[in-house]
Amino acid sequence: MALPIRELPVIDLPRRLREPHRGGAAEHFGPTDPHIDISRLPLLRRALKSRAFQFFLILPNQMIFWLVIVTGLFGALLPTHNFSTVITWYIWFCAVFLLMVGVGRGWCAMCPFGGLAEWVQRRTLWRRHPVSIGLGLRWPRALGRWAILPSVAMFLVLTWFEEFLNIAGPGDPRFTSFLVLSVIGVALITFLLFERRTFCRYLCPLTALIGTVGATGMVAGFRTRDRELCLTCPTKDCMRGSEHGYPCPWYEWPGSATSNLMCGLCTECLKNCPYDNVGLFVQPPLTSVIAPVRRRSDIAWAVTILFGLVLFQQVNALPAYGAVDDWLNQATHFPGYPNPIDFVGTIAVASLLFAVVVWGLRRVFADASLTSDARSPRGSGSFNRWFTAFGYGLIPLMGADYLARQLPRFLLHAPRIVAAISDPFAFGWNLFGTAHSPLYDVHLASGQGLVTSQLIVTGLGTLAAAYATWRIAGRDLGPLTSHAAGLRVASALVVVAFGVGVGALYVTMGGAE
Ligand code: SF4
Ligand code: SF4
Ligand code: SF4
Repeated sequence: MALPIRELPVIDLPRRLREPHRGGAAEHFGPTDPHIDISRLPLLRRALKSRAFQFFLILPNQMIFWLVIVTGLFGALLPTHNFSTVITWYIWFCAVFLLMVGVGRGWCAMCPFGGLAEWVQRRTLWRRHPVSIGLGLRWPRALGRWAILPSVAMFLVLTWFEEFLNIAGPGDPRFTSFLVLSVIGVALITFLLFERRTFCRYLCPLTALIGTVGATGMVAGFRTRDRELCLTCPTKDCMRGSEHGYPCPWYEWPGSATSNLMCGLCTECLKNCPYDNVGLFVQPPLTSVIAPVRRRSDIAWAVTILFGLVLFQQVNALPAYGAVDDWLNQATHFPGYPNPIDFVGTIAVASLLFAVVVWGLRRVFADASLTSDARSPRGSGSFNRWFTAFGYGLIPLMGADYLARQLPRFLLHAPRIVAAISDPFAFGWNLFGTAHSPLYDVHLASGQGLVTSQLIVTGLGTLAAAYATWRIAGRDLGPLTSHAAGLRVASALVVVAFGVGVGALYVTMGGAE
């Protein structure tokens, strides 16, 4: 599909088309606008403007992931030594969560899955090529209504297979390679069928998790410096593309973004904007959780379901779980762990429990006289609005829970990477002289230390979630109740109760991997 290259009179464009009127758009966007634009640093701006910038971010990860695939497929079946399993399950998964919490979609900016598929789709590594390949279809409107939920479904399916085949155990390294290859394959097919980064926006198994957990991060993404200028901008090159760059691959408009949820940090808008009106902004932690003026119910459901999934991964480490799973497998003639009934059932019960708690809070605090349209499903006092607000508040706890669940493998085994680098296929090589490093047996923490680290992480997540919920309840739901202070306190206490439950599970698990 040909992408027309337009000649733009960049220099002749008027700087301002009309005077800003601060009572309108500025007032609407004001509370969510971050103010620290790190792209004003000359060196960083030059790097971000370079077309090769993202390529050089992706390249090292691309090389590592192909090494993962090759060593997993052809190396020895020694999961604790093979580079494929050591780097993926002892280091990468934990590192990606740390990146989410700190930088939002930082991983997406350097991701080899989307990166490779985009290179193929664009027929170029970094230049602005006029012609893309593929059908360039639009994502069906009927599926678009489900927004980010297909990604959640993909993550559930992938996690179930991962548990069933014990891939992250770690188990047979070949399964790790197949997993990575399957994600790359689905990404490639989707990039060739649909336009831009449809895969990243709707289908990638990680996109819901990265987008939601990343909302706690300090990188606000690429935003406009002056939103009023965007409202009157005649070109909208950030969205449409220009000779300097591609249209926003994530279908975002920096002029209306109020969170970092869907900014893939690809820098195309910064390259495109003829007014130099785009910057890379940073913000205080939790801003994209608390501040958005437009909340999405699909995000709330995604957070709730993902929270249910990580609770399942805690529950399945309890001694009693094995007996239940075995009993279900016998009753349903299912060949192994985890039985789909208890897998889906645990997630459903956790999600429903959260929904019931929100329903109860609404019953107690919603004031019918303040919510004339309370019975309307779309009304300002509807369950949907309450559920969505609380779903956002749960994000820090959900993210912290995932990070805590990854900690045992990281803290117990991450140093093994030193040996694996020298002997990536586990054939007995010693390429860099570190194959027999004593670091192989070093644990960064163990026993009670693991539990303590998990409690610290989930404790911080609980405090952050309680604070976010307290703020969101006051701002979003306060006008719907005559007991705003009571609602804030009750909401924060509910989150603390969830956090205490999560912490209690980690204590019971005793640092299990
Ligand atoms: S959404 Fe998925 S495939 Fe796309 S860049 Fe992010 S992690 Fe990679
Ligand atoms: S960011 Fe987009 S809409 Fe705003 S001025 Fe630049 S090109 Fe125009
Ligand atoms: S082009 Fe879109 S995804 Fe890329 S940095 Fe700009 S807003 Fe973010």
